[in-house]
Amino acid sequence: MKLKLHWQIIIGMVLGLIFGIIAAYNGWGSFTSDWIAPFGKIFISLLKLIAIPLVLGSLVSGVASLSDLKKLSRIGGKTITIYISTTIVSVTIGLLIVNMFNPGKSVPVEMRDKLQSTYQNEVQSKEAGAAKVKERGPLQPLVDMVPSNIFDSASNNRNMLQVVFFAIFLGIGIIQVKGDAGKTLLKVFEGLNDVVIKMVDMIMLMAPIGVFGLIADTINTIAKDNMEQVGELLSALGFYSFVVVFGLVVQSVVVYPTILKIFTPMKIMDFIKGISPAQLLAFSTSSSGATLPVTMERCEKNLGVSEEVSSFVLPLGATINMDGTALYQAVAAVFIAQTLGMDLSLGAQVTIVLTAVLASIGTAAVPGAGIIMLVIILEAVNVPSAGIALILGVDRILDMCRTVTNVTGDATVAITVAATENQLGKVNFSD
Ligand code: ASP
Repeated sequence: MKLKLHWQIIIGMVLGLIFGIIAAYNGWGSFTSDWIAPFGKIFISLLKLIAIPLVLGSLVSGVASLSDLKKLSRIGGKTITIYISTTIVSVTIGLLIVNMFNPGKSVPVEMRDKLQSTYQNEVQSKEAGAAKVKERGPLQPLVDMVPSNIFDSASNNRNMLQVVFFAIFLGIGIIQVKGDAGKTLLKVFEGLNDVVIKMVDMIMLMAPIGVFGLIADTINTIAKDNMEQVGELLSALGFYSFVVVFGLVVQSVVVYPTILKIFTPMKIMDFIKGISPAQLLAFSTSSSGATLPVTMERCEKNLGVSEEVSSFVLPLGATINMDGTALYQAVAAVFIAQTLGMDLSLGAQVTIVLTAVLASIGTAAVPGAGIIMLVIILEAVNVPSAGIALILGVDRILDMCRTVTNVTGDATVAITVAATENQLGKVNFSD
């Protein structure tokens, strides 16, 4: 019997972890980056390679097969409202637990100074990234969404929102063209969609090896041939990390299942079974963008979400809906303020909710993007942004965890929208 995909991925992860730890103890850093890490990189590249054709194929054919545009705007409005609501809930959970546990009050002063000096250089590069974002005017995100050249947009996965815009626009155009010309073009995109889905299946054959390489490489990068350093870091930032992970768990195992229970007929066990390969991949790649092809495939093939809904809701969610990131940003902002001995007023905490919701929308679906936007939140509440030095050491691990929540949130919303639109079919685990 062939092992189910999620088991294959779990085995890859565990072996990657074991190998990574052995390699760190034995100083095999360069062997790992020369001979193991490339397999992880190839795997991520393959997933990214497929993302734009997938969005184009599925979104154009999804939109063009809608006969009325009213439905499209209804689905759009609903999707964005639910996305923003879940993010607000997530930030609020983050703030509640960080104020309850106060992790910043237990970091010793020597450790704080040591962390600040270790990560000085990295802080500067993150601050420079945030400064670029801040120079933009208030309507810039809207301007950024509308591409001036589709080939230019499609040449970079970071422009996913522009591709989404173009695909919806093209789909609407196809609806307007009556007769064969419109139908023929629609067939081309439907064909592209079918082919790309097959390509995703082929890429997933490599998942266990890819995940092995990614995890081994992550451990290698964090440990830098020095496992003791990891222990030291964990003892200082363990409590903070626990608070972030606790919040993410609450969001994923309480909030999402509650939404599914209230608004959809989906059984929680089926949801977990269906979405777990995407979650494991989100954990290994730290990128909801790279995970998108698998999230879409699982939602459509296994969880019964119609293509029309999934092709619209999921690419949009991967770019703008980041509940895990928003929660982490709220906890991190308060943690940094506490460690630096500053108390945040209620007004400042409300500012965190607002800026974290906006910042998470603006966060790119790639590894480490969340911490750049955190700089902006810190500045909004007058906490020195150099404070991110305190948390950089554990950021990669927390990035893996928050990406899982981001992806789970996208899938929850896709199922919810599908259920309320009468477009949720039966679950199917026959593959
Ligand atoms: N890595 C996250 C994602 O792709 C974004 C972040 O929080 O850094 O979903």
